[in-house]
Amino acid sequence: MYEAMRAAFGHRAWWPGETPLEICVGAILTQNTNWRNVEKALANLKHGECLSLAALDALPLPALAELIRPAGYYNVKARRLKNFVAAVREACGDNLTAFLDRSVPALREALLAVRGIGRETADSIILYAAGKCSFVVDAYTYRVLLRHGLIAPEDDYEAIKELFESALPADAELWNDYHAQLVEVGKRHCRPVARCEGCPLEKFPHDAQAGTTDG
Ligand code: SF4
Repeated sequence: MYEAMRAAFGHRAWWPGETPLEICVGAILTQNTNWRNVEKALANLKHGECLSLAALDALPLPALAELIRPAGYYNVKARRLKNFVAAVREACGDNLTAFLDRSVPALREALLAVRGIGRETADSIILYAAGKCSFVVDAYTYRVLLRHGLIAPEDDYEAIKELFESALPADAELWNDYHAQLVEVGKRHCRPVARCEGCPLEKFPHDAQAGTTDG
């Protein structure tokens, strides 16, 4: 299925050329919004020279919320960003690289301990900012797998993550692109009402009526 998606969409090269901090901030801001809005918020932060741990820490909460307003839920997300920055600085000062440079279980535990950071965000940071193997599961992943009979409706985040991680070679680049391909299929075809015609996964057995919720 991965090969079929990649043949159709090409390598997705997600978050190219951005710093680990930008990726972390983007992963936190992208919850419940689309990437275009995140880009506007990131541009505001860059323009305000606020994309450093020290600057984010020093910025008053209302000012940070105003800068990230385009990303939506800006008050909540500003608090989450502050929590993340505080956790990094408390553990490693201004050295985000050191914070990210630990084993995947330890890093995941540290991220999940930050108030407001859930599993999808934590795994996105581990995979895309730290470049380490932690498969990212989202609503698109759930829907595609459910419709293809690869998971049961009640399977939870950890079960789906384990399915990928036990089946794939430990190759962060592959996991990075695999998740991105699933997102592309989800956006273009596997929507609440499936558009199977022309979908790269159409040739695999599926039930397009399954998974009408986001799971
Ligand atoms: S749109 Fe159809 S073929 Fe494509 S992933 Fe969804 S169920 Fe499968």
